[in-house]
Amino acid sequence: MEVASHFHRVILDSVPHHVAVINSEGTIVFVNQAWIEFAQLHQQKHEWVGYSYWDVCNQDQTVVSALTKMLQKQADSYGYQYHYHTGQQQRWYQMSAIAIDYHGQRFAVITHVDITEQKNAEEEVRELTLLDSLTALPNRRHFTQFFDQEWRRGIRQQQPLSVLLLDVDLFKQYNDTYGHQMGDQCLQRIAALLAQFAKRPGDLMARYGGEEFVLVLANTDTSAAEKIANKLVNAVLELKIPHIAIGIESVVTISIGVATLVPSQQLAATELLQRADKALYQVKKHGRNGFKLAQ
Ligand code: GH3
Ligand code: MG
Ligand code: MG
Repeated sequence: MEVASHFHRVILDSVPHHVAVINSEGTIVFVNQAWIEFAQLHQQKHEWVGYSYWDVCNQDQTVVSALTKMLQKQADSYGYQYHYHTGQQQRWYQMSAIAIDYHGQRFAVITHVDITEQKNAEEEVRELTLLDSLTALPNRRHFTQFFDQEWRRGIRQQQPLSVLLLDVDLFKQYNDTYGHQMGDQCLQRIAALLAQFAKRPGDLMARYGGEEFVLVLANTDTSAAEKIANKLVNAVLELKIPHIAIGIESVVTISIGVATLVPSQQLAATELLQRADKALYQVKKHGRNGFKLAQ
């Protein structure tokens, strides 16, 4: 079937958004010029017409089932936002799918629009609110402010300050196995659990970056921090989030580096973080899924 006349094709090729049309089987029947150029930019050079859209979205089951529902006339539209890593850069896209019926056949028109600028602007606002947009935990900036404040308070009051650096184990493999969206969901589940461990006004659980989190515990000595680290490791284990890449019955785990110091003028606040980081490195070296106290 001729899906687009020359005139319509010229029109669609002038649109800057990536457009693909799929038939009721999920097979691509049309792509516009922007789609082809974007794919070429990422070394994907092949004939798009006849190619399965399910492979375009890496068989992501959430997307496949939502689009299948549309193609079976149980829904008319679908959309989601996702990020795409291109080398060092991360860009955001909005995928939208609209169902159309043409000559008794069902199709879906899919557009991918670059919304990076909009997302960055949103992120800037988020930064001002001191919240991490994925997990809703305090963000890195909030952590820095809080940590500096507690460090200074520790100097004045001569009370121990503890820091726990948490890192999700083998998370790259998790993304590789389940896809970035599932990876995001996994981080959200872990974050929701971790948030419960900041109980007192002097506690802060923040997203440190990527798959790393940090717990600040004011007025907390080594033995108390150790108990909390132990509980955290077990709590994540108990979530039982499958991680098939590690082993058949394996689940997602975390490693924690724990450091405690009585803050002093003679020390830099970063010293505490560096110690926690070294301890974390030791846990990683010795099999993960555990914690270690800094020397
Ligand atoms: P290790 O046990 O040594 O920590 O291994 P790892 O794979 O967790 O460590 P590595 O630093 O190699 O990989 C971290 C991965 O976390 C890579 C990165 O793509 C992923 N990641 C970081 N931030 C996010 C995010 O916001 N969402 C998702 N889905 N993945 C993320
Ligand atoms: Mg890491
Ligand atoms: Mg990791």
